[in-house]
Amino acid sequence: MLRIDDKLRPVLDDVVRRNAGEPEFLQAVTEVLESLGRVVAKRPHYLDNALIQRLCEPERQIIFRVPWVDDEGNVQINRGFRVQFNSALGPYKGGIRFHPSVNVGIIKFLGFEQTFKNALTGMPIGGGKGGTDFNPRGRSDGEVMRFCQSFMTELFRHLGEYTDVPAGDIGVGGREIGYMFGQYKRLTNRYEAGVLTGKALFHGGSRARTEATGYGATYFVERMLATRNASFDGKRVSVSGSGNVAIYTMEKVMEFGGIITACSDSNGYIVDEDGIDLDLVKEVKEARRERISEYVRLKGGRSHYVEGGSIWNVPCDVAMPSATQNELTGNDAKTLIKNGVIAVGEGANMPSTPDAVRLFQEAGILFAPGKAANAGGVATSALEMQQNASRDSWSFQQTETRLATIMHDIHDRCAETAEEYGAPSDYVLGANIAGFVRVAEAMDALGVI
Ligand code: NDP
Repeated sequence: MLRIDDKLRPVLDDVVRRNAGEPEFLQAVTEVLESLGRVVAKRPHYLDNALIQRLCEPERQIIFRVPWVDDEGNVQINRGFRVQFNSALGPYKGGIRFHPSVNVGIIKFLGFEQTFKNALTGMPIGGGKGGTDFNPRGRSDGEVMRFCQSFMTELFRHLGEYTDVPAGDIGVGGREIGYMFGQYKRLTNRYEAGVLTGKALFHGGSRARTEATGYGATYFVERMLATRNASFDGKRVSVSGSGNVAIYTMEKVMEFGGIITACSDSNGYIVDEDGIDLDLVKEVKEARRERISEYVRLKGGRSHYVEGGSIWNVPCDVAMPSATQNELTGNDAKTLIKNGVIAVGEGANMPSTPDAVRLFQEAGILFAPGKAANAGGVATSALEMQQNASRDSWSFQQTETRLATIMHDIHDRCAETAEEYGAPSDYVLGANIAGFVRVAEAMDALGVI
């Protein structure tokens, strides 16, 4: 495990002092600063002009009230957030999360991670993230629409295709993006398609955007496995979650010949010894918006449901955590290692705790960190922005081919950077350094702003 370099210790101390009570943000910053010791040893000019301190401080944080009326006629109040973290490389770009756990620290951690992730894609996009503590679960379509409209009624003034371009995240899919785009259009009287990504095709959305994060994570892990002459073919794979990222991870893993044996939601996990029937998962989760336990009731056979507990108790060759932050703990990592896992690919943002990451790395397990492995979503959002700017619409094949190339490039950039800095196969170090260098160079050239 890396430790913080003495030269960076004051930076971290300052971040800790100024962001008390935001454990996820501090966790994300600590991990990046641990990786940067080797960079500042080689290129000490990055310590000048408080560049790293500036990189740890969001450019702007917006917190706002979101009032809306539920189906019973009661006024409900939620809190909205948008953290515009860094725009050195382009307009702020990053998703919006609807989940009751959302607070400013979580949005800051996500915005910080997003900045490096977006840099890694090589595309002209800065980093940002947004969200709200609104819980969409059990809410009617009308309630979700009224919430989205109220949320956008405040947020719209901070957005724009050259300023800040949100997308979806947990709890925000095509339906919510549609409602927010509708309200943005109404408030501004402009059909500014490039202001949001993840739109429906008829609003200027991109083919393969829905699939992009999961497909991209799978392309990344397939390439990582190839460095050890392995592949997904015939491997048992567990994918946590059963939302957007999880579903399309499962789809691509199956295409690559992997066998998905387990997936989950926040109530529990399912195991199907015959391999998960993905059409049934899509029916339960996407069409009916029900709990994953419904799968077992409908499928029967050799499937079973475990309420609560950890999906990581199910033996697998490859683990793809694709639900939420800190869902895979040190104990889970020990169990996975004991059961013979050979690779872990993070589809979610920061799903493995620092303990878990350390254990995987010490055991020589291939480990793909989220900021590299799940970058396919935002990369395809950037492709959507390109299509919007040129009023063009690419085929699924064309878009997926671009996505695959981008993911292979990100993989290779991380691997080469890790090698260059004396830590071959350390994708955490490679991703952090490669992302940092690109943002740092762009910030440096802009002067002290
Ligand atoms: P979805 O809302 O589509 O799905 C989230 C899934 O994770 C659901 O199955 C949900 O279960 C489960 N989940 C959410 N919170 C928790 C929790 N606290 N404990 C256990 N399970 C939980 O979100 P996405 O698939 O879009 O996002 C998943 C992850 O991927 C997030 O970390 C997100 O930031 C990241 N990501 C998403 C991208 C995208 O393009 N969508 C891009 C890059 C990263 P339940 O239904 O029970 O809540």
